[in-house]
Order: sequence, then C-alpha cells, then structure tokens
Amino acid sequence: EGGGNMAASGGGAPEGLCGPERQGAGGLALLGLAPSAPSCPHGPALLFVKTSQGKEEGRRFYACSACRDRKDCNFFQWEDEKVSETRLAAREEYNRNHQPPFTHRQNVERYKNFVLLPLSKRRFCQQCQRLLLPAEWEKHSDHQFLCDISTAQLKSPSQLLYPLENKKTNAQYLFAGRSCQFLLDLIIDLGFRRVLSVGTPRLHEMIQLKASQEDFRVRSLLLDIDFRYSQFYTEDEFCHYNMFNHYFFGGEAARETCRKFLYQGSGERVIMVTDPPFGGLVEALASSFKKLMAMWKETEKEGHNLEMPVFWIFPYFFESRILEFFPSFSMMDYQVDYDNHALYKHGKTGRRQSPVRIFTNLTPSMIVLPVEEGYRFCAVCQRYVSSGNQHCEICNSCTSKDGRRWKHCVLCKKCVKPSWFHCNNCNCCALQNHTCEKTDAVCFVCGKAGHKRSTCPSLSHT
Ligand code: SAH
Ligand code: ZN
Ligand code: ZN
Ligand code: ZN
Ligand code: ZN
Repeated sequence: EGGGNMAASGGGAPEGLCGPERQGAGGLALLGLAPSAPSCPHGPALLFVKTSQGKEEGRRFYACSACRDRKDCNFFQWEDEKVSETRLAAREEYNRNHQPPFTHRQNVERYKNFVLLPLSKRRFCQQCQRLLLPAEWEKHSDHQFLCDISTAQLKSPSQLLYPLENKKTNAQYLFAGRSCQFLLDLIIDLGFRRVLSVGTPRLHEMIQLKASQEDFRVRSLLLDIDFRYSQFYTEDEFCHYNMFNHYFFGGEAARETCRKFLYQGSGERVIMVTDPPFGGLVEALASSFKKLMAMWKETEKEGHNLEMPVFWIFPYFFESRILEFFPSFSMMDYQVDYDNHALYKHGKTGRRQSPVRIFTNLTPSMIVLPVEEGYRFCAVCQRYVSSGNQHCEICNSCTSKDGRRWKHCVLCKKCVKPSWFHCNNCNCCALQNHTCEKTDAVCFVCGKAGHKRSTCPSLSHT
C-alpha cells in the first residue's frame, strides 16, 4: 500500500496525488532533503514535485516527511513561496506546541516514580497511552485504564501499547514471536553484540528483556518515531527519531547517544536492523540509512572500507528499488511474520505467505535459515532458499521470489511466477486473464512498465 494523499493542503495545492517517489502518470517525485527545508513538528520537510508521464510538472513543494496522510500532519509549502515573518513565528509556535506533553527526561523520572508504587497504584491510561501517577488519576477518571501494571508488563511495552496501525503513517506491524526469536538468534550466531533497532521496538524489547534476566551481553538502541516508548526506556536505550529525514528529535545529545552506540570500541560488533513502514519513500529511507552507516564509519578508527552490517526488512517486490540504492545488498528467502497483520501471518494452512524479506549486505551464505521450516542450502547459489525455490538450470539460480516454485519461460529468457503464461500479444509473461493494454506509465510498486500499481503482478498473491 503506497502513497495515498500526500501532503496536499492549503491554497491551490495539488489534490489526490498518489504514489510518491516512483515517477509515473499523475505521481509525485521525491526530490529529497533540501538544506534550507522548512520544518514541521516531524523535522525538516521533504521536497516533492508532481509528475506526469515521468516528467516533472508544476511547482515544487515541501511536505511532511513522516505523515503520508494529511490528517496526521498537513504541512505544506511551495518551494518558491514567500513566508512572512508572522507566519514563520506562528509555525515555530505550532511546532513547539505539537511536541509530546512530557520530555524524554521527564518520562524517565516518571518511570522511576512509577516503579516505586505498589502494584495497586500502578495504572496505565489506555486512551492517552500513558503510565499514570496517582496525582493524575482524577484527570483521566473517565478514560479506560489498566490496573496492577506488573514489572513484566513494563518490560513488554509493545504488548501494553496498542499498535499504531494507521497505514499511512506509523504502520506498526509487530514481529510474530517466532520471527523475532529467529532474528535475534541469527544476530547472536553472527557474533554481533550491539543492535541499532530502527523501527523495531519488538526486537529491542526482546533484547532488553533478556539482558535484564540473564547473563546476556547483547545491547540495543531503539530509534523510532513512536514517542510512547520514551516512557519505558532511558535516553541510552531509546531515541525519538524520524527515519524519513534522519531527524533526531532530541537534538545533538540524542545524535551523540547514537554515535556512541555505533562506536565499536571494545570490539563489540554492531548491526543495524530496520523494519520501516512499506508505504514508499524508499529513497528517503535509503538516504537516512546511508547517514547512519556514515555515522558508523566515522567512528571507525581504522577507516577500512567496510559497510555497517544491515538487515533491512521489507517486501520482496521492493527488491529492485533497494538494490538501486544499495548494490551490495541481497535478498534472503526468509519470510518475516507479523502478529497483527492478517495478510502477513504464517497461517497454519500455509496459504498466506508473508511477502516480507530480509535485505542484507552480509555474505548470503552466512545467513542460516531454519531447516525445520523447510529452508535448504543451495550449494550453487551459496545461500539458503525456500523449500519451493527450485534451482533453475537455465538461469543458474534459485529464482523464486515468493517461495512458490517458479517456471522458466524460454521466450522471456527468465523464470516467472507459476500462475503466469506467455502472452504473444504483450510479448511477455502475465496472468492468463490480464488485459492486453499497454500503459506508458511505470508501476509504483515494481517499477516496471505495462501496468499500474493496482494491477501489479507482484501483488497478485495478496
Ligand atoms: N516489526 C517491527 C515493527 C515494524 S512497524 C517490530 O515488531 O519491532 C514500523 C515501525 O517503524 C513502528 O515501530 C513505527 O513506530 C516506526 N516508524 C514509523 N514511521 C517512522 C518514522 N518516520 N521514523 C521512525 N520510525 C518510524
Ligand atoms: Zn540455487
Ligand atoms: Zn529460469
Ligand atoms: Zn514469457
Ligand atoms: Zn497480453
């Protein structure tokens, strides 16, 4: 699900645009993070332009980097717009007023007081998503709340907080226990001792929980835009961060926390794990990740030519987009499962298969996938593949992307989905019941011509 009404709001702004970044008919192109960009409550805005047939059309404008639904943030400004001093002042005031009610520091203090309370006085307001101190009960008296918040609950905030599922902004889809455990085991087996968790609160939580229970040497720093987590983690454990513009809400101090965490002084190796919202803006994400990777590199005294190891968790149909920005990455066959995402759950019947994969710059052969779940090692490809992913002798590769067995088309000279047939009209493989109409536009999802996002063959299984 990409795009939606981006940003449009205010005097004469373009209406009903969709599909940011990927150039296509009636889409938006992301021009990036301009040095002089104005700010909204979510940090510097991104510069966009409306496109038609792949060409820039009309005035460039700034819009919120984080919220793709204008209900969440309606920031809008033409690039060449003159903004009066009064409006600038009003905007600054607005940005200040739209920060969370408590600072992170205050939340840490509140937490300290909260854990001193007897169980009977520990309340969590479900409406405000906030731990309450007894003096505040009155104000929340007609809100729903939970009582007797245990230490175990405080250590599993991702269970206590409700997931922010609004597709266009937070898209908070939490890992199923099995997938989270798999990721952590993999990280440990690969010898990492530090995890930069970017938009992976549940992985962070699993690591924190283990570290508090047993002799467990792995540490994690969570970077996420969901400020509710600041109620449960100290400033060394959580930074309020926007991964679409690399913005640290906590300023230089928070940036420094991150930098320190990335410094592998005592030989503790770091890996970054990220699971961003899927709604597009791959380019903005890539640019932020490059900045985090640069931060890691700057802390390296030796200055060798290595890249910070990364797991970028994203749907397989974004493979070409990710590789465009990170040619050193490759896609693993492992299917990442989620708790609260009906489509991406690993169903008992096995019908619904998750399209979400791990993209990594580590050597594929090192990423050992669970044999008990059917993954096997292909000696030719030197990587673990899905059970259904057959090695094609002609392509000389295990070609399936979605876990099903693909078939080779001699005319297309490549392997295609099992449900596809070669169409002599279109001169390529497609679904049997497709309509042979060519569009010049490029699909937002897979970047290929000939169809629009709504009929993208990559999405045909969901
Ligand atoms: N599967 C992960 C959660 C992924 S959901 C887990 O279980 O740990 C996407 C995450 O990215 C959410 O935690 C959400 O709050 C965060 N997020 C969404 N937009 C963001 C942004 N602009 N900057 C930083 N984090 C963001
Ligand atoms: Zn193979
Ligand atoms: Zn083939
Ligand atoms: Zn074909
Ligand atoms: Zn056709």
